[in-house]
Amino acid sequence: MNCFALYCQIMKRKTDEEAFMSEQGLQKTEEEWKAELPEDVFNIVRKKGTERAFTGKYEKFYEPGVYACRCCGADLFNSTTKYDSGSGWPSFYDAQKHNIAEKNDGSWMMQRTEIVCNKCDAHLGHVFPDGPKPTGMRYCVNSASLQFKGDES
Ligand SMILES: [Zn+2]
Repeated sequence: MNCFALYCQIMKRKTDEEAFMSEQGLQKTEEEWKAELPEDVFNIVRKKGTERAFTGKYEKFYEPGVYACRCCGADLFNSTTKYDSGSGWPSFYDAQKHNIAEKNDGSWMMQRTEIVCNKCDAHLGHVFPDGPKPTGMRYCVNSASLQFKGDES
């Protein structure tokens, strides 16, 4: 890192630590991810795959705690917002939005909104505007993209 980049980082950190952290991201090469992750996980989080419905380990899982990014550990969802959508994938009506980025996804002849980890760009799933109150949103997430952290409080 050169001096100018370092200077910019320090100035940014002063103004907004959190935004700074999420903007920096966590950059690894595809090869590094591939070496680190099991193949089925790699195919979902780095290649935008989708696990088969009703097969993910968190699909029927309702312990209290936080769901973090499988790749980088960023907190993504809280168990209090998890619900059974009947879709076959873990579903949440709200998210830790500062750690999630939304992207337009026009694949499979559909217009959907992809959700990815804001820190490491891991593919998580999609968000749909057909969720329950109070948000009306449904975050439909692959179990393989998540790691559950139990409630430590
Ligand atoms: Zn991540």
